[in-house]
Amino acid sequence: MKAKNSLALIFFPAFDWAISPTHPEREERLLYTRDQIFEEGVGDIEGIHFFNPALAEAADVERVHFAYPDAGSIVTESHYIAAGGAMRALDAVMSGETDKAFAMVRPPGHHAQRVSYGDRGFCIINIEAVGLEYIRQKYPDLRVAIVDTDCHHGDGTQDIYWNDPDTLFISFHQDGRTLYPGTGDIDELGGPGAYGYNLNIPLPPNTGDEGFLHVIDKLVLPVLDDYKPDLIINSAGQDNHYTDPLTNMNFSAQGYALLNEKLNPDVAVLEGGYSIEGALP
Ligand SMILES: [Zn+2]
Repeated sequence: MKAKNSLALIFFPAFDWAISPTHPEREERLLYTRDQIFEEGVGDIEGIHFFNPALAEAADVERVHFAYPDAGSIVTESHYIAAGGAMRALDAVMSGETDKAFAMVRPPGHHAQRVSYGDRGFCIINIEAVGLEYIRQKYPDLRVAIVDTDCHHGDGTQDIYWNDPDTLFISFHQDGRTLYPGTGDIDELGGPGAYGYNLNIPLPPNTGDEGFLHVIDKLVLPVLDDYKPDLIINSAGQDNHYTDPLTNMNFSAQGYALLNEKLNPDVAVLEGGYSIEGALP
């Protein structure tokens, strides 16, 4: 069996990092994913390779964040490796080592805003933004679309790219009136320098496959077609799945597979969620 695209998988479950021993955000959610990958023989498919994450440094974090009081006191080694996973994924795609990459890493990052005081929705640093600003040092003219398909609004990514027309941000998520962090309304459209480059599609609880695919077909794909990004990054939360313990959506693994096929991201970075069935680019 041969993969349609060459794909780099970067895996880091952060063994030593958890909110608490019983909280759903813990290493088991990625270890379960790893078992699925091996059981289903994904690693044996021609064209799929495992890459090691890079290790981000304080300078990579500080390129994106004002960390208070400083990066050294709030960022753990796990965060540096998770961000390094996103850096490596983006680097591998930009350099042509692979067609696509998926950083299956934790801790997640999309709630971490420009100013970081520490944990915010399990996120301390925005791993997509740390990865993106790292590769922009090498490729400064990149036009990038970040499409956040996690069930929660990507409020951190929105905050960081609020006024940047070279980074289109699209998030669809469970309506903020019913789920953390409460933001992500349709009228949050970006700052004066990038008005319209920040798009939110809040969805009612229990939205199923048909609703998600409608949003992709009728809104996300036409906007991407118009924007013509050099690179599409997917904040690939898997927590719209109907079994997710923290959310209230009715999305299936088959739905994720179809969404992924339509979106066709260059780089996926895992955010929340418990299963990557159907998620591989
Ligand atoms: Zn989430």
